[in-house]
Amino acid sequence: MKRGQVAIVTGAAQGIGLALARQLVKQELRVALFDLQAEKLEAVAEELRQAGGEVRTAVLDVREPERVRDEVDLVAQAHGQLDYIFNNAGIAIAGRVASTTLDDWNRLIDVNIRGVVHGVQAAYPIMQRQGRGHIVNVASVAGLMPCPSLVAYSATKHAVVGLSYGLRAEAAQHGVKVTAVCPGFIDTDLVHHSELRGMDRARAMSGLPKLTTPEACAAAALRGVRKNMAVVVVTGHGKLLSGLQRLSPDLMQTFANWAYRRQVGD
Ligand code: NAD
Repeated sequence: MKRGQVAIVTGAAQGIGLALARQLVKQELRVALFDLQAEKLEAVAEELRQAGGEVRTAVLDVREPERVRDEVDLVAQAHGQLDYIFNNAGIAIAGRVASTTLDDWNRLIDVNIRGVVHGVQAAYPIMQRQGRGHIVNVASVAGLMPCPSLVAYSATKHAVVGLSYGLRAEAAQHGVKVTAVCPGFIDTDLVHHSELRGMDRARAMSGLPKLTTPEACAAAALRGVRKNMAVVVVTGHGKLLSGLQRLSPDLMQTFANWAYRRQVGD
């Protein structure tokens, strides 16, 4: 990561995206921040400009491919280069599958999968032409293992991991790097205020490990990106469980069955 490089961060108004934006500005990258939340985004941009950052913003919904493409093009044109895109915007809906509606599934798919696809579709051709660039997709440890009570969310994150692995192989031919970042439980609104289906918050939060700060998550993500890792698992708990999944998917499934029974208690 070098001074003057250009990075786009989606979902930058708060949480992990905000922490990434702050650390990129500290490293003197020029940043473009995309988010739905206009007021919060402007406040973040103001804070980062005060800190000496060169910051652009776009209020947009990552579900809209034309808006994403137009804004990514504008960033690349304005700076004459695009070095990183962090496809970070995401939502969570937790709870039992039997209580999850088709609308819930579609919203998760639209934001968490299509939102990432739109970022890739917009940035990859630019990076291919440059012969360099790095696409960073924020998935989750839920994209690496069975996650009862988080099944629909977990399915979207598996898609992001799969997309990232395959694209990494193709993109390497063009000098473009791809990394999937897989955080464990991070202390953000996504954990505290996610929508819940068929389960109360106390139950959904029971058995969660100590939450990691978004700052620590962003720092670990950026270390992994610098090393050009295929997958960056953030948090010790996430490393342990994803390690178990790699070692023995059967054992992990048994553990998931047990954890779900323990959580719902029926
Ligand atoms: P957050 O809710 O604090 O922040 C998400 C940001 O994305 C918000 O600013 C929101 O406005 C924005 N956003 C949501 N939908 C959008 C849309 N359609 N278009 C544009 N912006 C949109 O959550 P977070 O924890 O910082 O999550 C960031 C990413 O990290 C997500 O992809 C999430 O799935 C992933 N993640 C989070 C955790 C965790 O424990 N917090 C764990 C694993 C993965």
